[in-house]
Amino acid sequence: MAPQSLSPQLYQSFLSDLAKERKPSPIRGLYPLEAKPGLISLLAGKPNASTFPLTSVTLTSHSPTDPEKRTLITTEISGKELAEGLQYGPTAGLPSLVGWVYGLQEKVHGRKKGEGWGVTIGGGSQDVIYKAVSSLVNRGEPVLVESPVYAGVLPMFQALHCDLIEVETDANGISSSSLRNTLQNWPSSKPKPKVLYTVPYGCNPTGMTATTERRREVLGLAREYNLIILEDDPYYYLYYGDAPRPPSYFALELEQPEVGRVLRFDSLSKILSSGLRIGFASGPEELLRAIDMHTAISSLQTSSLTQAIAFALLNQWGYDDFITHTQTVSAFYRQKRDVFEAAMQKYLKGLAEWESPEAGMFFWFKLLLDDNDSEALVRTKAYENGVLALPGTVFLPDGRKTPYVRARSACSTGIKQMKLAGGWARR
Ligand code: PMP
Repeated sequence: MAPQSLSPQLYQSFLSDLAKERKPSPIRGLYPLEAKPGLISLLAGKPNASTFPLTSVTLTSHSPTDPEKRTLITTEISGKELAEGLQYGPTAGLPSLVGWVYGLQEKVHGRKKGEGWGVTIGGGSQDVIYKAVSSLVNRGEPVLVESPVYAGVLPMFQALHCDLIEVETDANGISSSSLRNTLQNWPSSKPKPKVLYTVPYGCNPTGMTATTERRREVLGLAREYNLIILEDDPYYYLYYGDAPRPPSYFALELEQPEVGRVLRFDSLSKILSSGLRIGFASGPEELLRAIDMHTAISSLQTSSLTQAIAFALLNQWGYDDFITHTQTVSAFYRQKRDVFEAAMQKYLKGLAEWESPEAGMFFWFKLLLDDNDSEALVRTKAYENGVLALPGTVFLPDGRKTPYVRARSACSTGIKQMKLAGGWARR
């Protein structure tokens, strides 16, 4: 039986007061009227494009099907595509790139366009995550976050003085039993949480990937306790584990009796370029509309030109070559993981403990220290010895002491780094 979509009214109860207060932009709100055939639109303050000096943009990329990187592909952006790239565009993103994302989500996650979900493009996934948080969470509200958690979202919640409720994680990703335990024992006097934040593949910082079983249980709990899952997944395409990859929450939702509890965030940062600043949210249209209202106020839209560049490249490649490219990238990171782990075995064995990551770019290791606090070592001795890493405390919502350290394993000088790390850890 096909899953039921949640009712649009239900989403109203998830929206923050700020999101409910936001009014549509008086100008952007009228954009759809411009679609009327034959209309002469004098609406938006679009500069006359004939005054823009750029006449074409030429992109040259490696062919995704040639891992030796000998074949180059040239793509020219001109004509209508360039005109779109140089002009103001729709708040949710250029229709060409939005259309490409719909196709990708269908191919990769089995979600078909027109089945009650939408897409919105942001300036990196960070941008859309922040807008989602501000659209969903009120000041002081409780929020469920996996712990340790991506340090980049903590300031979003902390600025709102949220009550951050930590959900434990282990080598199998987020612990559904910790989540169940928290929800079952939720004090009746306390407002209920609406949102769960998780990074399901190659989690930043732990590098762990949640198993399918865990994901199913988390989805079931989201339904039982009326939660929206913020699936922050920039490392999806950096999965290099030996086991078949688990489906995303966005895909697994289709197995549930109802869909619409997952707001998914993807990023082109790790697979095309982090400087492009393109990320996208896919999920319930009511929530995306709230994000778009934020964008319409804050930046009007994500850069048309970077969207046009991303689209030109992706469209030239096609989906199959895109996937091939992501496989090359993930194989690269797997090899970095192996080099880094070999160095860890050599220099940190007996001094640290770790689980081997199956996705992403990070190693999360526990230093076997007497005082269980990695901060002083990381900030002083490691730094003095030429190594900069992150003390685990920055990934904990309450900033408590921890013996953990996060190191980026994708460094080209991994062995040298770990030699140095071995040196300071022994002191
Ligand atoms: N989420 C996580 C878990 C990340 O690690 C990062 C990047 N460090 C982001 C979001 C932001 O990525 P983007 O470049 O797409 O904004």
